[in-house]
Amino acid sequence: MTNDSELPDYAPVPSSALGPAVNEQGYFVGRVEKNLYWVTDSGYQAAFMTTRDGVVLFDAPPTIGHNLKRAIDEIASANGVSNKVTHIVYSHHHADHIGASSLFGRDVVRVGHAETKRLLQRANDPARPVPDVTFEQNHTLDIGGERVNLAWHGTNHTPDNIYIHLPDHDTLMLIDVVVPGWGSFAAFNVNADVPGSIAAPAEALSYDWKHFIGGHLGRLGTRDDVVLHQEYIADIAESARKTLATVDPMPFYAKYGNNIWAAVKAYLDTAAEHAAAPVVKKYTGVLAAADVFIVSTAFVILESLRLDQGVELPMHP
Ligand SMILES: [Zn+2]
Repeated sequence: MTNDSELPDYAPVPSSALGPAVNEQGYFVGRVEKNLYWVTDSGYQAAFMTTRDGVVLFDAPPTIGHNLKRAIDEIASANGVSNKVTHIVYSHHHADHIGASSLFGRDVVRVGHAETKRLLQRANDPARPVPDVTFEQNHTLDIGGERVNLAWHGTNHTPDNIYIHLPDHDTLMLIDVVVPGWGSFAAFNVNADVPGSIAAPAEALSYDWKHFIGGHLGRLGTRDDVVLHQEYIADIAESARKTLATVDPMPFYAKYGNNIWAAVKAYLDTAAEHAAAPVVKKYTGVLAAADVFIVSTAFVILESLRLDQGVELPMHP
């Protein structure tokens, strides 16, 4: 049993980080722009577009699960259009974003990156059927007269994470890179490629759009949210760089002797805390949960500075 009084307290969540309330069934569905809609359960986000030829679904998080169908039915019946899902676009292979894909059966065209197909073949998960249509760099969907531009600009959160741009709806969907209004999830969103993930928001901003679908938590994003995320990550990297130059590892080695891992752990734990501290101070009240996962994110960014960029790696004389 965990006693409530033993659990840590955190800074309050700014109301600007919160999205709309969910209904009795646990979802909210709303219009992004024209015939493009988004669905959330306050933890995950998916989107769909109604067209004259059926519905295009973008991701299928299992936490939203059967509520995806309820949300589509609700909008389709209100607008007198077809509720039949004809296409599912996969943002990336992760089960938490597409694990409800199988609910839509076999009679759906699934579209994703070629690497998504390879990773899903490896996973062999019946909940995530492999894409029928794949691409390597760019792919344009023209469904029911609606345009969707898919692009791969290198590895970021995963090797297969794509940019989904709807130019006629002023919308960009890029999952698991920016969480509008919030600090990053643990270990910098458990990103596979740290430099690629740090670079991705600039790529996102190079597109024309007004509405950002980030895949997590309760609200959509704006260009300002993406810029704020860039500043927050740049501040963590800058603080980590300063930490590597100033926190002396020698006392940790002196204390732990031949237990090298104990010395390395104590040094890295101290360094991550040290790197995180000024950023927590600066972003508390600005980004929700700026004080929750940041030490693990600072650790990942600090290690990437060392390993990917060679910052402060000592050379034996
Ligand atoms: Zn993911």
